[in-house]
Amino acid sequence: MKKLSTNTIKGIQNSYRQKEFSPTQFIEKCLETAKKTKDLNAFITVTSDLCFNQSTESERRIRSNTCNFLDGITVAVKDNFCTKDIRTTCASNMLKNFTPTYNATVYSKLMNAGACIVGKTNLDEFAMGSGTVDSIFGPTHNPWCHGENCRIPGGSSGGSAVAVSSGACVVAIGSDTGGSTRNPAALCGVVGLKPTYGLVSRHGLIPLVNSMDVPGIMAKKVEDVCLTLNVIAGPDELDSTTLKTKFNPIIIKDDIDLSKIRIGIPKEYHCEGMSDEVIETWQYVIDLLANEKCIMKSVSLPHTSVSIAVYSILNQCEVASNMARYDGLEYGLRAGADYSTEELYASTRSEGFNNVVRSRIFAGNYFLLRQNYEKYFIKALKLRRLISNDFNNVFNVDQGVDLLLTPSTLSDAPLYKDFISKNNRDQCAFQDYCTQPANMAGIPAISVPIKLSRNKMPLSLQLMGPMLSEELLLNVVKKIENLVNFPFLEMQ
Ligand code: GLN
Repeated sequence: MKKLSTNTIKGIQNSYRQKEFSPTQFIEKCLETAKKTKDLNAFITVTSDLCFNQSTESERRIRSNTCNFLDGITVAVKDNFCTKDIRTTCASNMLKNFTPTYNATVYSKLMNAGACIVGKTNLDEFAMGSGTVDSIFGPTHNPWCHGENCRIPGGSSGGSAVAVSSGACVVAIGSDTGGSTRNPAALCGVVGLKPTYGLVSRHGLIPLVNSMDVPGIMAKKVEDVCLTLNVIAGPDELDSTTLKTKFNPIIIKDDIDLSKIRIGIPKEYHCEGMSDEVIETWQYVIDLLANEKCIMKSVSLPHTSVSIAVYSILNQCEVASNMARYDGLEYGLRAGADYSTEELYASTRSEGFNNVVRSRIFAGNYFLLRQNYEKYFIKALKLRRLISNDFNNVFNVDQGVDLLLTPSTLSDAPLYKDFISKNNRDQCAFQDYCTQPANMAGIPAISVPIKLSRNKMPLSLQLMGPMLSEELLLNVVKKIENLVNFPFLEMQ
């Protein structure tokens, strides 16, 4: 089989039509890769049998010329999306044996488009983290540097990023609340899109922060991210927060003229702790774009520095409320307690959640106490509005910019041993600096790999745009992709 590392959905489907290889052969290859790279721990559940059944169906449709958008294309889904009859764990003790009775809308749409699921991927418990190190199934490792002196894949959708990067699937779905799709995509050298809030249904995505969660998409090439977005986006009557307007599929052009596009460089993203290599990479792409006659402008988003603190408060408040459903009665773990209902709640929740989840519930409930509510929750909401207004001001049609270019992360992938030497909260505050403001404002953002660091690890940049600017974002990323020619990992 020819080299698959950068083969796109279109390329693979073309090979099916030309009979160069069949969906079943391709799926065998992906599952073999998943097996060979088992030590990376990208998957919580591998769904081989289901995947083969789906590929047989795809093969039939391809033969009868009724091929759908994702027929014969392997996908992996983060294990916080409900999948009917497939265990959905959120990498937690609480849901370790939970098998949903329904599908998340995103998963249904992927299946209806012919995708073949390789498996459910690892994450930080309940998607709380930025390293994929806090899972009851153990940490996931970065395929660019594993074994001794291994590095983290980023998180919390680290399993999905590793699955794509190592070649176990073509597309993977993550979730993004503060950066969980873009951060691991950046550290594993793949493209990661966080769409506009409400563009893609959250139905069946086990909630972390309802007002910020969005399903995210990862693939090596932006055109595959685009094709997948076209499949999964659009209103959903099962999620009242989806945007009601019809979604028109996006087309990516091979080349676009950048001379009328204005890209802002927000000075606040030049922050403490950012590595020299990241700054150099940022400047490298600024120069490349300027060379293409793109209009580059320095801009300011003055409330960026408070964003992390505001996010942390809002996150914990929503977590405290969301996690209340795990009471040992409805679903998930029920601890052995036969004394009282209170005791059942308490023992279930202390056995079912790790320290990170428990401490967020604790802090969230504190912020929501009647005497603290105004001081923390309401104040954080007001600041969230100011952060969002910063974006509105720079995206102002007359004097503003069309997009913003920033780093995705402050460094390349940290060493596992260094990463776990700091606690989850401090790591998130550091790792999510560049990504989480976009979630506060609900705007789309995408991470694109640019080059390798001196450690031979991926370095990536982020583009953000106003609400529903996905078409422009994806097209500019395509241009950047062509200019930088990132050296993808070849593991198959
Ligand atoms: N690191 C952030 C957190 O733990 C973001 C997580 C996410 O986007 N799911 O809250």
